[in-house]
Amino acid sequence: MRAIVIDRPGTFRVADVPDPTPRAGEVVVRVECCGICGTDLHILAGEFPPTPYPIVPGHEFAGTVVARGPDIRPDLPVGARVAVDPSLYCGYCRRCRAGRDNLCENWAAIGDTVDGAFAEFVAVPAVNAYRLPDHLDAQYGAIAEPLACAVHGMRRLGPVFGEPTVIIGAGTMGLLMLQLLVHAGAGPIAVVDRVSERLEVARKLGAAQAVTDAGELGGARFEVAVDATGVPEAIEAAIGLLGRGGRMQVFGVSPAEAEVRVSPFRVYNDELIISGSMAILRSFGQAVDLLDSGAVDPRPLLSEPLPLDQFGDAVDRVRGGQGIKWHIRPS
Ligand SMILES: [Zn+2]
Ligand SMILES: [Zn+2]
Repeated sequence: MRAIVIDRPGTFRVADVPDPTPRAGEVVVRVECCGICGTDLHILAGEFPPTPYPIVPGHEFAGTVVARGPDIRPDLPVGARVAVDPSLYCGYCRRCRAGRDNLCENWAAIGDTVDGAFAEFVAVPAVNAYRLPDHLDAQYGAIAEPLACAVHGMRRLGPVFGEPTVIIGAGTMGLLMLQLLVHAGAGPIAVVDRVSERLEVARKLGAAQAVTDAGELGGARFEVAVDATGVPEAIEAAIGLLGRGGRMQVFGVSPAEAEVRVSPFRVYNDELIISGSMAILRSFGQAVDLLDSGAVDPRPLLSEPLPLDQFGDAVDRVRGGQGIKWHIRPS
């Protein structure tokens, strides 16, 4: 089969590699759509410490079951259309046993630590596969992964009904969080992003205000702030936008060595809460349900998928801030 192989940081190739065969408990999925996200760029740059090389990246994907290993549940026949939760947990460490699988001490993930879905086929644990309703195409299926991260983020935030909220960053994650925050009754919601086309999308999806710089918010203070950029300066600015008693969620992925300046006096005196949200925690099924019901509409985020041999072009477009969500169609 053909696949994107990153042999070492800084370079990739479209290669012919052996087809995967399913081991016990696994199915092989023919990949119809796989999204490019910031993590893939980090893996390409050698900035994602858990990644071994060489690796086939790709963790946001959907496709069709084409082969089954032994002992596979009966509701996952060959031909089943699925979206796949890429999370791989050990199940026996302290965090897993506390129900916090996403913080697993032996954390792994398809496309991050084992071969992923920028390939014609990928082997996955059958338990990670979620059936896709017939009316959802593979591009919707591939959005289930980032949406599942956003669902986890919402759970970490807690109730937001009637809370003035600001989202920093209107990329895929910021715009998915926006839709969930609108549904949860947060508001009014302001969105900050440097790219004006994204602000247009944010307004369509329910943002009351969409501005290129937090300075344009007229000194407003917010109960809830969500950073969906991972940029340290943006996170500092977001904390500065919180009113007393406010809650900040660090949702974007910063470089591991980045630091921000926070006033401990403000955290104390204003009783600020700063929380994080890491990947997916039993939120994948809800993401599929939200897409199924139409409660979340990914269409304003999507560009036409590109073939596997245009992976480099797609990466350049992501880096260049062109479009919002880019997908590869490997088969
Ligand atoms: Zn991702
Ligand atoms: Zn574990």
